Amino acid sequence: MERRALRVTREPREYSFLQSPRSTLNAQRSTLMNVAFLGLGAIGQPMAKRVADAGFPLVIWNRTEARAREFAAATRARQATSPADAARGADVVITCLPNSPDVASLLDGEIGLLAGLRAGATLVDCTSGEPATSRQIANRLRGCGVDFIDAPVSGGVSGAEKGTLTVMVGGNPMVLERVRPVLEAFGQKIVHCGDVGAGDALKAVNNALLAVHIWSAAEGLALLAKEGVSPRVALEVINASSGRSNASMNLFPERVLTRAFPRTFRLALLDKDVTIAAEVSSARNVPAPLLQLTAALMKVAHNSLGDAADHVEAAKLVEQWAGVEIA
Ligand code: NDP
Repeated sequence: MERRALRVTREPREYSFLQSPRSTLNAQRSTLMNVAFLGLGAIGQPMAKRVADAGFPLVIWNRTEARAREFAAATRARQATSPADAARGADVVITCLPNSPDVASLLDGEIGLLAGLRAGATLVDCTSGEPATSRQIANRLRGCGVDFIDAPVSGGVSGAEKGTLTVMVGGNPMVLERVRPVLEAFGQKIVHCGDVGAGDALKAVNNALLAVHIWSAAEGLALLAKEGVSPRVALEVINASSGRSNASMNLFPERVLTRAFPRTFRLALLDKDVTIAAEVSSARNVPAPLLQLTAALMKVAHNSLGDAADHVEAAKLVEQWAGVEIA
């Protein structure tokens, strides 16, 4: 155990293989780091699967035990009995939960993460979380000799399955370099954004922009439908013009016009993300009226459509208000 701790806390320049192509790393890296993954939700599950497939010795834990059991049966991962059990012996512990307070709630008690984490380990929080809470968690862990980085992701469930996620990291860059081989199992673009909390802040703003684009595209297309312009024609023109966005180019053609509305990223989570962006703007005294309004609209949509609704289903509320379907 002592030897492993020494090995993973070396400076990354000692690992010449870090310069090797990604595909050749698996065997070498798997002898270095034991990984624990907590939170096998819509995106956590495929991320953990990529970690297992990359060859890392993996221990998993999930609040609803059946999900963990199913995952362990389908992979070579060991199912832990508690967060503490998962963290014991792990070099890298990854959490992917709805929000930072959920992560904080796993730290304490006899079966909490802190009871299992050893000095020299790193907690990588892939939750789209709150910068201030991440900073508090990092401070608590520092006292135990445990490093922390916030590492929220974007790219959706399909990006997680393909290993093409973007990972936005806040924290010590040397810690990032140490755990980078694990992040590369699911991330293609891994970007150091600043100190602890910077990844969370960037993710919240990115998702606030996503919410703005979904809502504004829905309003514009509903209005055009009322004016007698087919949403299909409208999108063809907008997507060749300056008003286009990921919402207009991908989400609306694939999910709204088709009425498919697949459930990949819950509206409840987008509501949470835009609220974080709005709260950060208030805390920093940065006037952000559009973000504040979008946060309020996402909350109304979430309350009206329920916890299970997908984020793109927010367009259904705009349709209801306008009395027209975007199809
Ligand atoms: P889900 O709601 O699908 O899953 C949440 C996971 O967290 C489940 O494993 C759930 O366990 C667990 N969980 C919830 N609350 C607690 C708690 N208090 N204590 C312990 N475990 C808990 O979320 P996603 O997987 O979609 O999202 C996870 C994170 O990733 C979120 O921060 C989200 O914003 C972000 N994200 C999601 C994307 C997506 O496309 N889905 C894209 C990019 C980021 P249980 O099985 O018991 O419910």
